[in-house]
Amino acid sequence: MRIFKTIKDLSGFLKNLKKSGKQIGFIPTMGALHEGHLSLLKTSIDHNDFTVVSIFVNPTQFNSRKDFERYPITIEEDILKLELHHADLLFLPEVDEIYPEGLNNPSNIPLGNIENELEGFFRPGHFQGVATVVSKLLKVINPDFLYMGQKDFQQCMVIDKLIQMMNLPVKLQIVSTFREDSGLAMSSRNMLLSEEGKKKAAAIYSALNYFKDNITKIPVNQLKEEAIKIILDAGFSKVEYFEVCNAQDLSKIDKFKPENKAVVLTAAWIESIRLIDNLLIN
Ligand code: AMP
Repeated sequence: MRIFKTIKDLSGFLKNLKKSGKQIGFIPTMGALHEGHLSLLKTSIDHNDFTVVSIFVNPTQFNSRKDFERYPITIEEDILKLELHHADLLFLPEVDEIYPEGLNNPSNIPLGNIENELEGFFRPGHFQGVATVVSKLLKVINPDFLYMGQKDFQQCMVIDKLIQMMNLPVKLQIVSTFREDSGLAMSSRNMLLSEEGKKKAAAIYSALNYFKDNITKIPVNQLKEEAIKIILDAGFSKVEYFEVCNAQDLSKIDKFKPENKAVVLTAAWIESIRLIDNLLIN
């Protein structure tokens, strides 16, 4: 696997690769790789001639300094995992490489309402940071396919919007959420949980499934309360949101109709760690 740290070296290499007609798949990550990331990698390898992975803990998408500072970094293990799973290239830039203009020039990409809902409401500025880094990476790498996880459902919607808005020549492929046997969605932040915490955290998946299984039987508001109770009873300290939304535009659904293409999404805190997850309903 090739490793590049600068845009100049990466661009030079990829230009030649593109000239030879190779189809490129790209997976942006923040490292601390787990099987969820690797499932994106496998999907890309199966569908493309060449797969690029980036590892960059993007400071502009963290709205809390504490969260940024304790984000897990396991770069040596990550490189071994990527090599073992046959990634072709790792882009591993420093902050200055991505933000030569510094970090005090917040971007203002017109993402519309979606950046203020749910995750955006609780993490102001988060999606501006995500859209900024992904647009910078897409410009440099210019891949044919971009792979992202359904685990970050709203993020996929934001990037889909970015691609359309900027008319970028890349196709977004969303890969389903990879879970532990317990149902807990894999996440780099799970590394920060105790073993006990990880067991308890599976309650998120139970609550999402309880919601999904009962959506046609119990009114939405009552069902939300019951699902939140499942999460809190398991030992979570707080549920930030538990919402069922239209899967196309994330507008909230108060009364479910079977023809609704819906998604139920939640964010909750356990052991001072914030976890998110979601489930498509139909
Ligand atoms: P991150 O390193 O957390 O920024 O994630 C990088 C990419 O991996 C994003 O597109 C995530 O949605 C995706 N991802 C994270 N966790 C999972 C998972 N459990 N299953 C599938 N994809 C995931």
